[in-house]
Amino acid sequence: MVAPGPPAERAVPRRHALVTGANRGIGLEVCRQLAARGVHTLLTARREDRGREAAAALAAEGLPVAFFPLDVTDEASMQRVAEYAARELGRLDILVNNAAISIEKKQPGLDIAMDVVRATVDTNLYGPLRLTQLLVPLMTRHGYGRIVNVSSGLGSFALLAAGKLAYRLSKVALNAMTRVLADELRGSNVLVNAVTPGRVRTHLGGIHAQRSTEEGADGIVWLATLPDDGPSGKFFKDRTEFPW
Ligand code: NAP
Repeated sequence: MVAPGPPAERAVPRRHALVTGANRGIGLEVCRQLAARGVHTLLTARREDRGREAAAALAAEGLPVAFFPLDVTDEASMQRVAEYAARELGRLDILVNNAAISIEKKQPGLDIAMDVVRATVDTNLYGPLRLTQLLVPLMTRHGYGRIVNVSSGLGSFALLAAGKLAYRLSKVALNAMTRVLADELRGSNVLVNAVTPGRVRTHLGGIHAQRSTEEGADGIVWLATLPDDGPSGKFFKDRTEFPW
């Protein structure tokens, strides 16, 4: 008689992540850290040459990273990546809405050109919203999702002050989006959180910022890999709640 074997363990499916604006800066480092945890990571970028080069460098280190072109201001581009994820990966577990621009100079809010405001909100808010709309069905289908909206301390309503009006508006609204979608998705195991990486040495953060991209990416990757009983609808810095 053959002795019964141990009960079949429920295999944890391989996780798939998508990171926007990942050819450089914090997004690139988030890809590195997620892939180092065994997550198959789609490094996306609006510039195909730069994105391919960045993904190839990580893949050459043995990390499970692939490239897909994605411009978060382009509806067709967002639809293409969502179709690719559904068709080729069959699931999407982690979405890091990282891509953003900060293009205003030092002028006061009353003097900012409206095309600067529109471009900023288009990239930093409407892009994340539309991409989330397109990808959440792939998460709820499998009862698992982690959405990380990379916000900013400049988007904390509690800390609002003069300057950077367009960027601040886009991040305050991204935070609002985080709260609303987290509430709508409650009970689905799709957790939605916002995070500020602090001042990080990147093109956007400048060379004098205190933090490295490794430090900036840490809190993002933590939220991207939360356990099922993790928080949702919160704003974090350094793995600690931060004032909205
Ligand atoms: P970064 O080095 O300037 O990188 C921004 C990335 O977004 C680049 O890859 C850029 O692509 C991409 N991007 C811009 N527009 C895009 C679009 N339409 N479609 C797709 N990708 C687009 O900035 P970062 O510092 O790493 O910023 C990452 C995130 O952290 C942002 O959400 C930012 O607001 C946030 N943050 C940063 C700091 C900081 O101190 N660095 C502080 C607070 C919050 P290109 O290379 O093609 O331009």
